[in-house]
Formats: sequence, structure tokens, C-alpha cells
Amino acid sequence: MPIRQLPAHLVNQIAAGEVVERPASVVKELLENSLDAGASRIEIELEEAGVKLCRIRDDGGGIPRDELPLALARHATSKISSLEELEQVATLGFRGEALPSIASVSRLWITSRQRSADAAFMLDGADGGRGGVSPVAHPPGTTVEVRDLFFNTPARRRFLRSERTEFGRVREVIERIALSRSGVALRVTHNQRQILDLPAAVAPAELLDRVSRICGHEFTDNAIYIQRESGGMLLRGWLVRPVHARSQPDLQYMFLNGRAIRDKLLAGAVRAGYRDVLYRDRWPAFVLYLDMDPAWVDVNAHPAKQEVRFREPGPVRDFVRRTVEAAIAEPGAADAGSHRSGESPG
Ligand code: ADP
Ligand code: MG
Repeated sequence: MPIRQLPAHLVNQIAAGEVVERPASVVKELLENSLDAGASRIEIELEEAGVKLCRIRDDGGGIPRDELPLALARHATSKISSLEELEQVATLGFRGEALPSIASVSRLWITSRQRSADAAFMLDGADGGRGGVSPVAHPPGTTVEVRDLFFNTPARRRFLRSERTEFGRVREVIERIALSRSGVALRVTHNQRQILDLPAAVAPAELLDRVSRICGHEFTDNAIYIQRESGGMLLRGWLVRPVHARSQPDLQYMFLNGRAIRDKLLAGAVRAGYRDVLYRDRWPAFVLYLDMDPAWVDVNAHPAKQEVRFREPGPVRDFVRRTVEAAIAEPGAADAGSHRSGESPG
């Protein structure tokens, strides 16, 4: 076969192979876009774990009418415009490939109204968005509707597990996002049943309530609240008391600059902080938020951006380990509600 340039649609489907593995990836990408748009309230409607329908509506900044088709263009983003900006990116997205990838393996519509605009427009994502833009009624903000995921990629469809399993993954994604941005109200329905309704949490008691609704009371009742700043890093959140450590590493949430990440270095640093007080087969449970200058982290290490690279991992690891160690060693370490009188962890 001669070498030839692949058509755009096929390029997007190939990219979707990395970015859109299952309905949970769609939910993650759309939620991240809503957060990047500054939403304070997000509604998520799912059918059949998101395979049949995933509709996400936010009250964020919206997309101007003439930019709607660009939202579906590959490598088109409003979030960065230079290498310098990439190196200190603070938004969750920046690659400009989620929407075109999702649109290439589903039926997709974007409806949006800018806060300052008096009209909303809808773009039909069929055919790379060449379906055109039409005026519709919609409050300020954006709704992205994704239907029939993988209808045109049967191989991918066959890899999907049962609705129950896929929905479990979706739920995990939503819960991580809900923990990462407590100030954003979230409502979720699945097959017309409401399954989550989280009001915006700002006051310490509200934050604790959100954590316990996601992680369970058993966790929050037995957790210590910590907050420590050093060397330009801030670590705050909840750590389980050592005697309530778990038999599996199944309750470990780590957020770096507001992004849910899975990072062996950080999870290892937390565990190291518990080392002296934990039985061999026990695992710490935690919900921790680490914040630092975005320029110290490379988030462009993986298409789904759940992995990060620290420019200097050593000091980060030490800071996390020492902070955890000191917090759980404190005699009668404060209970989870103890920060109520202190500084807001918001
Ligand atoms: P990225 O998030 O990496 O920029 P996406 O393909 O996810 O790429 O989105 C493309 C662009 O569409 C974004 O840069 C943003 O300008 C716009 N966009 C997508 N979703 C929303 C939303 N919910 N609200 C406002 N703008 C959005
Ligand atoms: Mg995005």
C-alpha cells in the first residue's frame, strides 16, 4: 500500500482509542470541560451507564457561536496557545482532542450560550461538525449530549463490560471529580433515577459532609484533618487513623492542583508516612489535596492525564511523607471535624 494521509475522521477514531476507552472516559472528559469553563453547577444524565446517553449540562462560561465548530476540530483548544503556557497549565484540559475523539465514536451535539450572549446555538457533531449550527433555547452554559457510544466502532463496543460494571467506573469518575471540586454542585441521574445530588460545599462542615457521602461515615468518623504548607507546597485533607487502616488500598484519593491523579510516588509517600504504625497487610485510607506551582509538574505525560511527572520528585515525596508521619504521630491527633474552628480547608 502506498503511504497516504489518513482522513480526519479516522485520525480522530484512532485518538479515541486512547482517550475514549469506555463511557467513564466520556464522563470524565465532559466533566473536566465543564470545570474548566468555571461551572458552579453540573447536571449529569446517563442511560445504560452512559453508552446510550451521556448528557452533561453546566452553567459555565459557554462557547461563542462562531467557535462551536472549532470545539470539534482536532488540536483546537481555548486553554493554551504556547509552550510556555503548556508548561504551567492550570486547566484540566489542554490537548484539544477530547470532543473530536468522542464525536468520532458516537453521535454528539453541543449546545451553548455564552454568559453575555442572549441566544444559544447547537452544533450537530455529525460529519465532524459540518452538520451546522442552529439557534435553540438554552440557559447560559453548555450542554454536551453524547448518544450511542461506539455505535460505529463495533470492536470497541465488544470490549464494554456489563452495564453494572461500566456504571461502577462512571461512578468512580464522578466521585473523584466531586471530591476534587467541592464548591461545584453536582446532580446525577442514571436511567431516570437520581443517584447523587451534592450541593456546593464551602464551609468545613459541608466539606466533611461531601467527603462522608462519597467515602462513607466509617472513613470520616475515623479520620484526621491535616493541613500543612512548606517550600511552596500545600498538603491538606483527611487521613484515616492508623487503627482504622484498611485491608486493601481501595480508599485513596489524591488530587494535585485540583486534578485527580493516580501516582505511585505520592501513594508510596503516604504509605511511608504510616510505616511505623501500620500492620504489614494494612493500607492507609486518605483524601488528600496537594497544591504547588503548576510549573513544577508535567501533566502532559499521558493522554488521559491521570499520571504526572514532578520536575523534582524528591522534595515532594519527603514533604508528603513527613507531613503524614507527623500528623498521625500527634498524640490524640485531631478528629476530622476539628478544623471547624480553624482555617477553612476550602
Ligand atoms: P480541551 O479541553 O483539551 O481544550 P476539548 O476537545 O475537550 O479540548 O474541548 C475543546 C474546546 O471546547 C475547549 O478548549 C473549550 O474551549 C470548548 N469547550 C468544551 N466543553 C466546554 C464547556 N462545557 N464549556 C465551555 N467550553 C467548552
Ligand atoms: Mg477537554
